[in-house]
Amino acid sequence: MPTQSKTKKTSGSKTEVKSTKIDFGKKILFAASEAVPFIKTGGLADVAGALPKAYVDAGVDCRVILPLYMDIKQELKDKLQYLGNLYVNLSWRFQYCGLFKAEIDGVIYYLIDNEYYFKRSGLYGYFDDGERFAFFSKAILDCIKLMEGFVPDIIHANDWQSALVPVFLDVFYRNDDLYKNIKTVFTIHNIEFQGRYSGFISGDVLGLPDWAREYVEMSGDVNYMKGGIERANKVTTVSQTYSHEILNSYFGYGMNEILVNRQFKLTGIINGIDVKSNDPKTDGFAYVNYDLASFDKKVENKLAFQKDLGLPVDANIPMIGMVGRLTHQKGLDLLSPIITRILDMGVQLVVLGTGDYKYEEMLRGVQNRYPNNLRALVTFSAELASKIYCATDMFLMPSKFEPCGLSQMIAMRYGSLPIVRETGGLKDTVIPYDYTTGKGTGFTFYSYNAYDLLNAVERAVGMYRDYKEDWQKIVDNAMTQDFSWKNIALRYIDLYKEL
Ligand code: ADP
Repeated sequence: MPTQSKTKKTSGSKTEVKSTKIDFGKKILFAASEAVPFIKTGGLADVAGALPKAYVDAGVDCRVILPLYMDIKQELKDKLQYLGNLYVNLSWRFQYCGLFKAEIDGVIYYLIDNEYYFKRSGLYGYFDDGERFAFFSKAILDCIKLMEGFVPDIIHANDWQSALVPVFLDVFYRNDDLYKNIKTVFTIHNIEFQGRYSGFISGDVLGLPDWAREYVEMSGDVNYMKGGIERANKVTTVSQTYSHEILNSYFGYGMNEILVNRQFKLTGIINGIDVKSNDPKTDGFAYVNYDLASFDKKVENKLAFQKDLGLPVDANIPMIGMVGRLTHQKGLDLLSPIITRILDMGVQLVVLGTGDYKYEEMLRGVQNRYPNNLRALVTFSAELASKIYCATDMFLMPSKFEPCGLSQMIAMRYGSLPIVRETGGLKDTVIPYDYTTGKGTGFTFYSYNAYDLLNAVERAVGMYRDYKEDWQKIVDNAMTQDFSWKNIALRYIDLYKEL
C-alpha cells in the first residue's frame, strides 16, 4: 500500500528520495503482453518485471496484468489463485474471461485466462493477433471488477498489445463510476510494431461506434498504437533520444506526424535493468562469479566458455559478444558485409539470437568458414546470454534503431564494453571513451555505415590489445554506472503526478 512517506518534496516539483520510499498514494495497474518472471520474448518483459517491482519496493501499490499463456511454466501456474470470471463483449462476441492472481516477490500479478486466445504455443504471430489483443485490452478493463476492490487510479499500458486500453476506456467505460477517474499512460517500446489490421476490424472486432473509429483509423487501416497515442493522457517512450527520433519519418514508421501533433504529451524516460538478477557477482550461470574488485576472475569465464564452445582457448584473444533478435533493427545488415573483416582481426565473435532466416543462414555460413572465430548460437537461452555477458570483453550492438536497448546496459554491468551505434537508448546509455578525460563507457559510431562499424570495432580491439590501462579505466567506468530502476521509477512517478 502507499507509503508512510520518508520522502521529501523539494521546493521544485520533482520528488527527492531521502530513503527508498516514494510518496505517492495512487494505485497503478501495469498492463503488458509479457512480463518476467512469467513469460519473455524481449525487453518489454524485463521492463514489466522490473519497473512494477521498483514501485512496490518503494511502497507504491502497482500490480501487473498479462495474458495467461500456455507456455508459462507449470511451477508458476501452480502459484495462481482463481479470482472469478466474466464475459467480455467484443463487437458481436461474448468471450469467456477468467482472472487469476499470484503474488511473487511482493508484486501482485493478474493473469487473464481465455484458452481460445491464449492456449497456443508462443506469444505472437497468429492470424488473429488483432482480435486476441483487442480481447486482452478490453478484458483488462472488465477484470477490474474482479480485483477484490483494487481500482487503479492509473493504467499504464505498453506497446500495441495493450494500446486499446485508453481507447476502450474512453469509448465504453467512462459512464461507470468505477472507471470515470482512471487516467492512462501509454508507453511505446518499439514503434515498428503497431498492431495494424484491415479497416473492418474497428466495427467487427473492436465494436467501435462510428464516431470513435477515427481514434484508431490510419491510412484506411486500423492501427492500435495510434489509438493508444490519441487517447492516453500521457505517452512515453523508452529513451529521450528515441522520443525525438520518432518525430521524423526515418524512425517513425508512419507514426511521426501523429506524434508531432501529440508532442505536448510525449516524454522519453530511459529504461533501467534489474540489477539484482543481472549481477556478475551472483549470476547463477557464470562459470566464476566476479565483480569490479575481483575483475581478474572474469577471464576464467572466457577460458571456460571458449572450451565449451570448441574455440581456441586463449585469454589473449579478444572475445566479442552479441545477444539479441536477429533482425534488421539490430544492425545485421551492417554486420553482414564486414563480419569476415572483423574475424580477420583474430577475434572471437559469439552471437546468440534467433530471428530472420537470412541472418541465421549468413551466420551459419560464416561460421563454417571461420570455425575458430565465430559461434552462432541460434536459440533463446538465458543461460547462454549470461555466459556471453560474463565471458566477453566487448559487446556488439550496431542497431539501425534502438528505442532503449537493455543488452548494452547488462554488458556494461558485466564489464563487457559496448560497441554501439549512436541511436536511441544506445546513445543515451553508452558514453564514447575519450582518452583525454578518461571518461566513457564504450565505443560508438554514428552513421548507418558498415565501415564506420568496422572502424569502431578496430578502435575497441586496438585499445584492448595495446592500451590495457585505458581499457581498465573504461571497465571501471562501465561497471560503476547506475542502471537501477530506483531512480527511473521516480521519473515515472513525477510524470504520473502531472496527470
Ligand atoms: P529487444 O529489442 O528485443 O527488446 P533489448 O535489448 O531491449 O531488445 O532486450 C533484449 C533482452 O532479451 C535482453 O535482456 C537480452 O539479454 C535478452 N535476449 C535477447 N535475445 C536473447 C536470446 N536469444 N537468448 C536469451 N536472451 C536474449
